[in-house]
Amino acid sequence: MTRTGLGFDLHPLVDGRPLVLGGVTVPGGRGLSGHSDADVLTHAIGEALLGALALGDLGRHFPDTDPRYAGVSSLVLLRAVMDLLVEKGAPGFTTRDYEGKFSLRASVTSELIFQDVKLPADAMLPKSDGLKSALKCLTQARYGIAWGTIGLAMAVFDEALRYGKSREQFGRPIAGFQLQQRKLAWMATEITKGQLLNLQVGRLKEAGKVTFSHVSMAKMNGCRVARECSRYAREMLGANGLADEYQTGRHFCNIEAVYTYEGTDDIHTLILGEALTGLPAYSG
Ligand SMILES: Cc1cc2nc3c(=O)[nH]c(=O)nc-3n(C[C@H](O)[C@H](O)[C@H](O)COP(=O)(O)OP(=O)(O)OC[C@H]3O[C@@H](n4cnc5c(N)ncnc54)[C@H](O)[C@@H]3O)c2cc1C
Repeated sequence: MTRTGLGFDLHPLVDGRPLVLGGVTVPGGRGLSGHSDADVLTHAIGEALLGALALGDLGRHFPDTDPRYAGVSSLVLLRAVMDLLVEKGAPGFTTRDYEGKFSLRASVTSELIFQDVKLPADAMLPKSDGLKSALKCLTQARYGIAWGTIGLAMAVFDEALRYGKSREQFGRPIAGFQLQQRKLAWMATEITKGQLLNLQVGRLKEAGKVTFSHVSMAKMNGCRVARECSRYAREMLGANGLADEYQTGRHFCNIEAVYTYEGTDDIHTLILGEALTGLPAYSG
C-alpha cells in the first residue's frame, strides 16, 4: 500500500515531492494485497515526477557526485516516471502493517514508507516504460479481479441456494417462497451477465483489441454483482449469514476491499465516463 492515506495520493505531484505509486509483490509472494513475507522483494512502482521535479531535487535522490548515479538524472527526465526495485532492508524503506482490517483478513496489508531512500542506478527495472508499464500490469490484474468477483458471486449464490432448499420455515423450504426466489433469480441473471461480459473482454484481449476502459467496466461490474449477491445470500442465510461456519459472511466482508482497491467503483465509473464522452470528470 502506498504512503499516504492507504491509497494513491497525487498531491506530491503538484508540489514536486517524490511519489511512490504502488507496491506489488514478486511472483511467489502474496499478490497485491499481501506484503508480509519477509523474504519477498518489494517492487516499488513509480517514483518521481517529472515535469515538477527540479534538477536540484533529482540530485537529492541521485547525487551526481557519486559515479554510481551517473546519467540517472537525465534518464529520469527522459522517462518522466521510473520503475524501481527497492529491496527489503534498503535504508529509508520501512513498512507498517495496516491493523484491524475487517476485510481480507487472511493476508497482511502494509503501508510502504519511503523516506529519503537512495538507490543505485541498477535499481531501475530494465525495459520498463515507466508509469505505462505499471498501469499495464494493473490492467492485467484487474482483468483477473473481474473473474474473481464473479467467482465470489457464484460461491455465495451456491451456498444461498443450498441453504434455501434445506432450511425450512412455516413447514417448507425457504427457497420455495417467492421473495427468496426473486433473490436467487436476480443473482443467477447477474452472474450470467457478468460471465458473458468477462468472456467478451477476454476475447478482445486475445484479439489484441482490449482497452483499459473495457477492463474497468468488467472490474466495476464484477464488484457490483459480487457485492449485491453476497448481500442477498447473507440475507437468505439469516443469522447463519453472520457466522463463520458459512463462507457467505467472509465473502460479504472481503468484497468490500475488492470494491475499493484496484480502482474504486467511482474511479472506474469516471474512466468509462471519459471513454464515452471524451471529457474527464476526475477533478474540477
Ligand atoms: C486490503 C487492501 C489492499 C490494498 N493494497 C494496495 C496495494 O497493494 N497497493 C496500493 O497502491 N494500494 C493498495 N490499496 C489501497 C487502495 O488502492 C486505495 O484504498 C484505493 O485506491 C482508494 O484510495 P483511498 O483509500 O486513498 O481513498 P480516497 O482516494 O481518499 O477516496 C475516498 C472516496 O472518494 C472517492 N473519490 C476519490 N477521488 C474521486 C474523484 N475524483 N471523483 C469521485 N470520487 C472520488 C473514492 O472513490 C472513494 O469512495 C489497498 C487497499 C486495501 C483495502
